[in-house]
Amino acid sequence: MKVAIVGGGMAGCALAYILRQSGAEPVVYEAGPTLASGASGNSSGLYNPRFSALRGSESDFYAAAYSQALRCFQTLEDIDWNPCGSLHLMYSDKIAERLRRTAENWHWDPAHMRLVSTDEASEIAGITLCHEALYLPDGGSVSPEKLCAAYMRDVEHHLNAPVENLDCIDADIKVLACGPAVAQFAPTLPLIPVRGQITQVTATELSAGLKCNLCHSGYMVPARDGVHTLGATFQPDDDDAEIRPQDDQENIQKLAEIMPGLDTGLQVIGQRASVRATSRNRFPIIGLLPGQDDVYISAAHGSYGILSSLMGAHLLADMILGRPRCLPADVIRALSPTRFKKRG
Ligand SMILES: Cc1cc2nc3c(=O)[nH]c(=O)nc-3n(C[C@H](O)[C@H](O)[C@H](O)COP(=O)(O)OP(=O)(O)OC[C@H]3O[C@@H](n4cnc5c(N)ncnc54)[C@H](O)[C@@H]3O)c2cc1C
Repeated sequence: MKVAIVGGGMAGCALAYILRQSGAEPVVYEAGPTLASGASGNSSGLYNPRFSALRGSESDFYAAAYSQALRCFQTLEDIDWNPCGSLHLMYSDKIAERLRRTAENWHWDPAHMRLVSTDEASEIAGITLCHEALYLPDGGSVSPEKLCAAYMRDVEHHLNAPVENLDCIDADIKVLACGPAVAQFAPTLPLIPVRGQITQVTATELSAGLKCNLCHSGYMVPARDGVHTLGATFQPDDDDAEIRPQDDQENIQKLAEIMPGLDTGLQVIGQRASVRATSRNRFPIIGLLPGQDDVYISAAHGSYGILSSLMGAHLLADMILGRPRCLPADVIRALSPTRFKKRG
């Protein structure tokens, strides 16, 4: 079965990878001069689940996606996978409540998720912190850019190949995986562009001691070759991918808010801005395009695309190939593009 995939970011590349493993013939069309030309082009990103206080469709999706990704990353080479652990800091009462209820409701073995005191968090981090945290020992970072390349080894793809009209593509199935540009093909879907920028800074003597990821309203990744990645700004309804110096300052300022002094002396040496897409309820849109029988979507991966693009790829592959579904019906409904239809 020939499957044409529009977009060579994580959503498109992950789907191509899973389809190829299943014996289908994926072909990826990417508008840019390289794979991962859009939001997936960052050199480092965290594979965090999106936490919700209640156990429901959303948490079931991200929990499944997290364990799926850990299994997958073990099998891929050259993706800069660093499972150094992630501390999700309780930097406000609201966040503390959400993280505590996550630990209760997800009920994972403490070897994989547990609440830690400020002292224990500091010991894990290797630097003194001033917040309790939810700790995910298997958490970590990966290079989205390299992940796309790894997914696409041996998959047919065409660069500088913008698709303007799906009818011009000769394939049994077509999949829209082109980030915010999905809106051009499916204008009724409530896709929201969200600009974001990551910042690279040189490590200081203090920050160089960091041993795991720190997650707060932003994030800090342990230094690699003396350089930290700080993320990320989040500006809804802004589709401008130009670099903004004030975004670097915002990423550094967020660090100062969770641990005064950690920001001191950090020198900005690089940055990258791009635009992710999200949906009205911040949950990805994955499934059959309403009114079509051969056009699927994988979009609105928001700030959690490393996990959701891979889980979405497994689900779409099951749908396209007519296999039993890897996710329960309530999760599939919650992801479906038809969920936005007005009831009347
Ligand atoms: C600053 C920032 C930091 C982030 N940090 C993290 C993180 O730490 N962890 C995490 O999980 N997620 C993170 N994200 C989110 C993650 O990067 C996105 O969710 C993910 O990249 C979305 O992948 P995608 O394939 O849907 O979209 P994209 O990566 O945007 O891919 C879409 C592709 O489609 C192409 N395209 C567009 N139109 C066409 C067309 N007509 N024909 C052909 N090709 C087309 C584009 O060129 C692009 O390459 C971050 C995002 C940003 C912006």
